[in-house]
Amino acid sequence: MNLEFTPEEVEFRKEVRAFIEENYPKHLRGVGAREDLSRDDMLAWHQILGEKGWSVPSWPEEYGGTGWTPTQKYIWSEENARMDTIMPLPFGVSMVGPVIYTFGSEEMKAKHLPGIREGKVWWCQGYSEPGAGSDLASLKTTAVRDGDHYVINGQKTWTTLAQHADWGFFLCRTDPNASKPQEGISFILADMNTPGIEVKPIKTIDGGHEVNETWLTDVRVPVENLVGEENKGWTYAKFLLAHERSGIAGVARSKRGVERLREIASTELLEGRPLIQDDEFLRKIGQLEIDLTALEFTELRTLAGEAQGKGPGPESSILKVKGTEIQQRLTELTLEAVGHYGHPYFRGFPEDGSNEFPIGPEYAHQAAPNYFNMRKTSIYGGSNEIQRNIITKMILGL
Ligand SMILES: Cc1cc2nc3c(=O)[nH]c(=O)nc-3n(C[C@H](O)[C@H](O)[C@H](O)COP(=O)(O)OP(=O)(O)OC[C@H]3O[C@@H](n4cnc5c(N)ncnc54)[C@H](O)[C@@H]3O)c2cc1C
Repeated sequence: MNLEFTPEEVEFRKEVRAFIEENYPKHLRGVGAREDLSRDDMLAWHQILGEKGWSVPSWPEEYGGTGWTPTQKYIWSEENARMDTIMPLPFGVSMVGPVIYTFGSEEMKAKHLPGIREGKVWWCQGYSEPGAGSDLASLKTTAVRDGDHYVINGQKTWTTLAQHADWGFFLCRTDPNASKPQEGISFILADMNTPGIEVKPIKTIDGGHEVNETWLTDVRVPVENLVGEENKGWTYAKFLLAHERSGIAGVARSKRGVERLREIASTELLEGRPLIQDDEFLRKIGQLEIDLTALEFTELRTLAGEAQGKGPGPESSILKVKGTEIQQRLTELTLEAVGHYGHPYFRGFPEDGSNEFPIGPEYAHQAAPNYFNMRKTSIYGGSNEIQRNIITKMILGL
């Protein structure tokens, strides 16, 4: 593998860096992606990228993709991580968007793809239910045909950021008598303002409101909102999950996180010496960097495969497991590095107008909330235990 960048790629990096520096909203610099930001702030960068034509780099060019090479996409992620930008949310761009342009009707593409590309329409994912997470095919939400409509009833859970969502994509059982549970499921889009949809918050351990319960009671959705064929939703659902998992690896962000950790460990002292000089701590950072480099090469191989027309397959499970383990270790080490300054803080403190100020250096304020928040990564997108089962069967053939 040639690791040198070509002169064109070096130029591309300069162009991207200049664009981000000139256009990334000033008030969001140094803030990072957080669930307590307003809807407008979360969408601001997405909308700027939409105008530039850079919001959906991986989509086919006919739908607004950039046609970048894997190396250009890699440079793009690195430069965004460098500035800690708030990237377009995955629910539209890397989940339902690819499902719609691959399996949806022409009308559906024309109706929904522009809003996703431009960052105007916020989507949420209605897969999981209280009794159906890892065993997703056992889902109970039903969609019953009534003339030109489906009538949906059931409860979804863990619906991320549904409190802001304009539209949702839901897996519903349309044939309760199918011979296998996977065969009676359909993939249906719903306007979140439809009567009968109720979103209730779930508070998480870091004090945030990121996930919700979504209740669906006699929700009438036009039949045009069915993606592809009735009862074939499981195929589209699996296609979407492979896209979701490869996006979860977050290599560029973790590389930036390790740089920050090194800076913190150079400032914090242990027995009078910078923490970075402690052999044991240095060994932990070193091990993390080795694992991150290995993951980076795996991701580059996957990107190269995608450029040759191979969609993300079961390898995305490897990216998901390793990427999320690294994110968790990174936040653990950051919390360890800030020591007792990590204890008293919760996300969002101090609130606007408060005359209290957090104690300790600024880099310590988010260490504990980030540590708690990142426990989610080995659960969402399909738990890491389930990903290991997939790797065992689909890649190792055991
Ligand atoms: C922060 C967060 C955000 C999420 N966002 C969304 C969202 O937007 N939309 C959505 O639809 N869902 C979302 N989810 C749900 C997520 O996909 C599920 O939590 C996940 O699939 C696990 O399902 P479960 O919670 O029901 O756990 P369970 O399936 O009950 O699993 C419990 C434990 O048992 C283990 N386990 C289960 N079966 C096996 C097996 N066969 N072999 C080995 N171990 C097994 C699991 O690994 C896990 O440790 C989110 C979850 C979180 C935590």
